[in-house]
Amino acid sequence: MRDLAIPEIFGSLVFNEEVMHTRLPKQVHAALRECIENDKPLSFEIAQSVASAMKTWAVEKGATHFTHWFQPMTGITAEKHDSFIKPIGEGKIIMHFSGKELIRSEPDASAFPSGGLRATFEARGYTAWDPTSYAFIKDKTLCIPSIFCSYGGQVLDKKTPLLRSLQAVNKQSLRILNLLGNPTGATHVYAEVGGEQEYFLIDRDLYNQREDLCLTGRTLFGARPPKGQEMENHYFGNIKPRVKAFMEDLDIELWKLGVYAKTEHNEVAPAQHELAPIYSDSNTAVDHNQLTMEIMRNVAIKHNLACLLHEKPFAGINGSGKHNNWSLKTNTGINLFKPGKTPAENLQFLLFLAAVIKGTDEYQDLLRASCASPSNDHRLGGNEAPPAIVSLYLGDELGSVVEALEHDEHVEPIERAVMKSGVKVIPRFNKDTSDRNRTAPFAFTGNKFEFRMVGSSASLSTPNVVLNTILAEELCQFADELEGASDFDVAAHALIARVLKNHGKIIFNGNNYSPAWIKEAERRGLLNLKTCIDALPAYIAEKNVELFRKHKIFNGEELAARYEISLENYCKVLQIEALTMIDMVKKSIYPSVCEYMGTVADTICSKRAVAANFACEMEVSLLTKLSDYSDNLFKACVKLEKDLKRAADITDLVECAHFYRDAITKDMEETRHFADELELITAKNYWPFPTYTDLTNSVV
Ligand code: ADP
Ligand code: MG
Repeated sequence: MRDLAIPEIFGSLVFNEEVMHTRLPKQVHAALRECIENDKPLSFEIAQSVASAMKTWAVEKGATHFTHWFQPMTGITAEKHDSFIKPIGEGKIIMHFSGKELIRSEPDASAFPSGGLRATFEARGYTAWDPTSYAFIKDKTLCIPSIFCSYGGQVLDKKTPLLRSLQAVNKQSLRILNLLGNPTGATHVYAEVGGEQEYFLIDRDLYNQREDLCLTGRTLFGARPPKGQEMENHYFGNIKPRVKAFMEDLDIELWKLGVYAKTEHNEVAPAQHELAPIYSDSNTAVDHNQLTMEIMRNVAIKHNLACLLHEKPFAGINGSGKHNNWSLKTNTGINLFKPGKTPAENLQFLLFLAAVIKGTDEYQDLLRASCASPSNDHRLGGNEAPPAIVSLYLGDELGSVVEALEHDEHVEPIERAVMKSGVKVIPRFNKDTSDRNRTAPFAFTGNKFEFRMVGSSASLSTPNVVLNTILAEELCQFADELEGASDFDVAAHALIARVLKNHGKIIFNGNNYSPAWIKEAERRGLLNLKTCIDALPAYIAEKNVELFRKHKIFNGEELAARYEISLENYCKVLQIEALTMIDMVKKSIYPSVCEYMGTVADTICSKRAVAANFACEMEVSLLTKLSDYSDNLFKACVKLEKDLKRAADITDLVECAHFYRDAITKDMEETRHFADELELITAKNYWPFPTYTDLTNSVV
């Protein structure tokens, strides 16, 4: 019996290859494929024909509206719905969708972040159809994945630079393949990505009782619970029925949208989970991750749950990341990061590996910046993994290959060891050649690289733009050098040995969490950009501006704009968090604690009225603590308010961001400290919102 395809079982809401095959005239479909595969512009006639077929299909599926679906610099997606209806006279209305409407749209760009690229009076912006990512139906609306730029042509979104970086890495990879004789006749190299998504699930009723979760996505208060993740029993633990029901629903919703969610499991922290899809081309994967986050939030609501995508919803337990698995594949099916049985003799693999090593070392700052956000600061450089120091893990096998090549020594091929369990009935199988390393920010994992620094709420776009662009640059340098060589093999080996010698310092196969690594990294001269504010200037560093300019990804102005938008975002996020804190302290914590203190004080008075010699030791001690902590909380909160006013007066953006990082975050820590102390000694029925224990054990 043949296996059933997912669309046959669950239905499909994607205008994909299969639908196009049946719905588009043959020559139109062929012309569209030609454009996509060879990066060629699309003619208007083809667009017209595609639009008409798309509309008919979408209307049959119940769609009434269409929208260009794009990714402005807010980091989330944007859409503006138009209905298909069109009057044709005599009171008649038809469902219509033109080629022009498919190709471009003109949203008012003034309400999106532009980092000064577009004055408000020049509001015009354009979205334009990206034919390399399939259109799909969501909420009865035909969504057309699109890029977004200003009237002047400047990039205002996250998709355009990604598409440009894919062109760059394609071009430079082909140069290297051609030098190697291009045995499979590849004409296109694609970057492929699988983005693993971590998230928390909590009960929605409890979520609604926490102003901090509703407004900022994370808890700004919360004392350490008696039981956190110390029992290490949540990771891969059995999945609770309510979570299981959510995951099942989520999978089906995602499958309908062509997002092939494959693996779902419990993560390390209580209430934390992960979803991994089957990898796809990088552009689609980035779009799909945005969709995944949106669908997760919506499906959660249906189950009366709240899906938290913030990097650090709870202090003291693990935060959430997004692992970006990344590889390069030719249109002839060759994975360029596949080492094969004898990696030391696989010149193609070694050249691509050397390019990754050199790029990671030379552009550590950019890789770090590509994951920089105020929320990710709680993970990177905080007390958990991965650290803010960029390094590359290769594992033992590849590590020894690299070492031998660097010193021009012979490399013994490594035999695959057989796994023996000591139980006869268990089938034997070959072990992997390297163990897993969960602590590395960037790791080689067999035939792909896994970049683990990305935050759970972030778009996957920027990290991939950086990965593709730095690889393009290194491959370009290699090709420039090797194209002129008289003996290619000799020159290539010399180049690889030189790269490993000069850039081997970026390779680290040990434990990235250990304090010894921080010292060792410093000795090696690696960067340790602890906060977002330390990392972001990489966008305007001269060497990086030159990199992006050379490969036609961004010009200097666009990079300066991105830097400005990120700084602004940092200040805004912290301001909202600080104001939320103050609001919760004043409107919830003060009143509750006052009431509780009143009760304790009344108890003392009543007891002493009965007998004046009652010591009331417990009550007095408790009341003293409540009173002291409240006074300290009051002082901390007043200081926070004062500093927020100071921040508002700082006109220089860089200075303002530094002030937020250095002063406001400290004030917030202080405020939280006293509030958390109060939580620990206030009676449960007086405390104004659900605690960590309530929240992380709310889903059964
Ligand atoms: P883990 O990282 O937990 O070991 P897997 O090895 O199963 O998990 O892979 C994690 C993710 O990597 C999945 O989304 C998978 O589709 C993706 N992936 C697997 N192979 C590749 C590849 N060649 N290129 C890009 N992503 C890949
Ligand atoms: Mg992984």
